[in-house]
Amino acid sequence: MIGYLNGQYLPQENIVISPEDRGFLFADGIYDVIRSYNGKLFRAKAHLDRLSYGAGALQFNQTDFGYLEPVCERLIQDNRLYRGDAVIYMQVTRGVAPRSHAFPPIETPLTVYATARPFQPHQQEAETGIRVILVPDQRWARCDVKTIGLLANTLAHQRARTSLAAEGLFVRDGAVMEGTHSNVMAVFDGKVITPPRTNYMLAGITREFVLRLCGELSVPFLETPLYESDIRNADELMIVGTTVEVTPVIAVNGENIGSGEPGPLTRKLQMAFHRSVGFAE
Ligand code: PLP
Repeated sequence: MIGYLNGQYLPQENIVISPEDRGFLFADGIYDVIRSYNGKLFRAKAHLDRLSYGAGALQFNQTDFGYLEPVCERLIQDNRLYRGDAVIYMQVTRGVAPRSHAFPPIETPLTVYATARPFQPHQQEAETGIRVILVPDQRWARCDVKTIGLLANTLAHQRARTSLAAEGLFVRDGAVMEGTHSNVMAVFDGKVITPPRTNYMLAGITREFVLRLCGELSVPFLETPLYESDIRNADELMIVGTTVEVTPVIAVNGENIGSGEPGPLTRKLQMAFHRSVGFAE
C-alpha cells in the first residue's frame, strides 16, 4: 500500500517516524478517518474542517488541512481503492523534537501522515443490531478534539468486548455521552434524541448527517441530554459513526431495548443513510 508522509507518497513499509515524534512521546496529535464509497470520499470537507479545528485547539503552527483532500483522493487512486469501501486514516502531530513538556520552537514542522485501506463493513451487526454496555467516562474534558490519546476509549472498548458487547457507551454524571468510537441516538415516542454538542463529546460527522436526514424525512429530533436512568425505556437505540454508519442497538447491559430487535425508525434512517452515501457531498 502507498501512504503519505509530509508531502511524499511512499510504500507503507518505507514510512518511518522518529521515536522523538511528539505523537509517540506525548500523544500530542490529532487524527481523522474518512470513508470512501466506490472511490468517492464521504463528507471529506467536514472531516478536514474537524481536523483543522483540532489543530487550532492544540495550538499547532498550521491549522488549515483542506489541502489534504486531494491527498486522500490520490491515496484512493494509487492504492486502487476506487471500487467498494475504503477508509483513509490521517494523523497530524506537533512534529519531532527532544522530549520536553514545553512546545518545540514554533517553526518545527508538523508530522502529517495519511494512509488508505480497504474496509469491510460490519454487515452482520448492521443487520441484527448490537449489544452495548455502559462504562464510566474516564476521558479528559476536551473530547471535542479528536486526539490520538485514546487510551480511555480503547480500555472501555475492550471492556465491552470482554463482556461480549460490540461497543461501550460512556456515562458522565449520569448522562450517556457517546460511544468509544461512535455517537449515540435514542428514540422515544417517535422522536430521535441525541446528546447536545459539548466539550465532553465529539461532534460526529455521521451524527450531523443523520440529523440532517431526520430533517429531510420529517422525523422529529432533539439534541438534549440522554440520561442513564432513561435509556432502558427508550423505544429504540442506535450508534452512528464513520465505520459503524447507522447500527441498531438491541440491548444495554444485557437488558433489551424495546422489543430487543432493531426498531423501525432506526431502519428508516439506516436505509436513508445507505441511499445517500456516494451521492451526498
Ligand atoms: N465519537 C467518538 C469518540 C469517535 O471516536 C467517533 C469516530 O471515530 C465518533 C464519535 C463518530 O464520529 P464520525 O461520525 O465523525 O466518525
